[in-house]
Amino acid sequence: MNYHNYYPVDVVNGPGTRCTLFVSGCIHQCRGCYNQSTWSPSSGHLYTKEMEDQIITDLNDTRIKRRGLSLSGGDPLFPGNVESVFNLVKRVKEECPGKDIWLWTGYLLSELSPEQQQVVDFVDVLIDGKYEKDFADVRLEWRGSSNQVIHRFDLK
Ligand code: SF4
Repeated sequence: MNYHNYYPVDVVNGPGTRCTLFVSGCIHQCRGCYNQSTWSPSSGHLYTKEMEDQIITDLNDTRIKRRGLSLSGGDPLFPGNVESVFNLVKRVKEECPGKDIWLWTGYLLSELSPEQQQVVDFVDVLIDGKYEKDFADVRLEWRGSSNQVIHRFDLK
């Protein structure tokens, strides 16, 4: 997997102070996508074990009280990303107690493959669906268009 950006302290992508990883790779080609540079899975930088370790370390750093991890892109559930993202979310739940995971994907929850669903099983909040320019609304919180759905597994 490759990634475009990693923000160890982020207050924009999800609630509270967070670590945010923007991965490379997306097949959805949404009209009006702001992140077209992330579409190619070979764009950006190589995501390494050291990077994964850094994210775990940052989440557990008590000097900055982070609420959790946000995963966006690109698409974290792009098939070529699923193995790496699965390893990351599994480690976060095992090694970072109390931290939540938010994940944005262009896929619909109802159409996920078993491998993608295994990732989502570790996620607290999933925002699903393609960005639809015709339903875009800047007043929406955590999503760009009203067709996208915020699934709160943490509230169930
Ligand atoms: S899913 Fe996201 S990154 Fe992919 S094309 Fe749509 S808006 Fe862009």
